[in-house]
Amino acid sequence: MTAALRTWYLRHARDLPWRVGPAERAAGVRPDPYRVWLSEIMLQQTTVAAVKGYFERFTALWPTVGALAAADDGAVMAEWAGLGYYARARNLLKCARVVAGDLGGRFPETEAELRALPGIGSYTAAAVAAIAFDRPAAVVDGNVERVMARLFAVDTPLPGAKPLLTALAARLTPKAHPGDHAQAVMDLGATVCTPRRPACGICPLLGGCAGRAAGIAPDLPRKRPKAVKPVRRGIAYVARRVDGAWLLETRPDKGLLGGTLGWPGTAWTEPAPDAAPPVAADWRPLGGEVRHTFTHFHLRLAVMAAELPLDAVPDRGAFVDGAAFRRDALPTVMRKVHDLASATFPPIERLPGGGL
Ligand code: SF4
Repeated sequence: MTAALRTWYLRHARDLPWRVGPAERAAGVRPDPYRVWLSEIMLQQTTVAAVKGYFERFTALWPTVGALAAADDGAVMAEWAGLGYYARARNLLKCARVVAGDLGGRFPETEAELRALPGIGSYTAAAVAAIAFDRPAAVVDGNVERVMARLFAVDTPLPGAKPLLTALAARLTPKAHPGDHAQAVMDLGATVCTPRRPACGICPLLGGCAGRAAGIAPDLPRKRPKAVKPVRRGIAYVARRVDGAWLLETRPDKGLLGGTLGWPGTAWTEPAPDAAPPVAADWRPLGGEVRHTFTHFHLRLAVMAAELPLDAVPDRGAFVDGAAFRRDALPTVMRKVHDLASATFPPIERLPGGGL
C-alpha cells in the first residue's frame, strides 16, 4: 500500500514554497529545517492557500533562523497580522531565539528534542522530524486523520479516535523515505481523499480501503456535534487626531491577540461591558457592528469614533502617524473595525505650503 502511495506522490506531489519535492530529494537536495519549521507553525489552524504569501514574505525578510531571532518583535507581529492565533507568532520568536542562541542555529532532529522547544507540540515535532530530517514519525493532521479513518473504517468519533488514528498512521509509516510518505498522506487527503467527496476512482489506496469497501468513506471521520459558541460583546474606540494620527495600543502579551496592535476598547464579555473611552472626546456611535468569530466565541463589536485636537492626551494607547499607519499590521478583527470607522472621518485638511 505504501509503495503505491509513493508512486502516486512522485507524480502528484503538490508544489509548495516550503517543500523540497520528490524530484529534488532524489537529486540530493535536503530540506531546510528552518523553512519546514516556519511553514508548520504557520499552517497550524490555517490553510495552505492563506499561508503561502506569509511564508514568502517571512523568508524574504528573515531568510534564516538567525535573522528571525534578531528581528524586532513588533515587525514580526506586524508581518504575522491577519494569520490569527497570535500566540504562535510570539512562540515563533522565542523558539527562533533558543535555536539561534542556545543551539548554534541548528534545529534538533528528534521529536523529543523538538518538542522541548517553545511552540512545538507533538504534531509539529513529528512533522519537522519527518519532513526536515527524514525520521519515521507519524505526522497526523486533519488530512491524515481523515485518510486513516477511511482507510481503516474507524467509526469512533473525533477527538476520541485520535490516538487510534495516530497509531494507524505510525503503523503505515515505512522505514524508507518516511518524510516523503508523511507528505504523501497529507497531499492525498488534501487533493484526493477530500472531506465531502473523496475521489476514490483515482486513489492509489483504493484496493485496500476498508471505508470505501463498506460504502461509508464520505461519512468518515465521524465527529462529535460542535458546541454552540457564545456571543461576547465589546466596544472599540477609533480616534484620529486632526493631523491624521491614529490612536492605537499594543495588547498585553498574554491572552487573545496578545502582543498585536489594535484599537483601544473594552473587554469582550457577555453581557456587554461598560463603556471606558481611552480619551475624553465627543464620541459618536457608528451604525452597524463588527462581527468576528474566534475559536471559542463570536464577537460583536460596537464602534465609537472621535476626532481629537492636536493637544489630546489619551489615558491609554499612543498616536501612530497617519503616514506610518499600516492597516495590514492589524489583526483581522481590528482591520474590520478600521474599515467600518475610517470612512466616517473627514479628509485631512492641509495647510497652504504642504503642512498639516
Ligand atoms: Fe480516501 Fe477513497 Fe482513497 Fe479510501 S479509496 S483513501 S476513501 S480516496
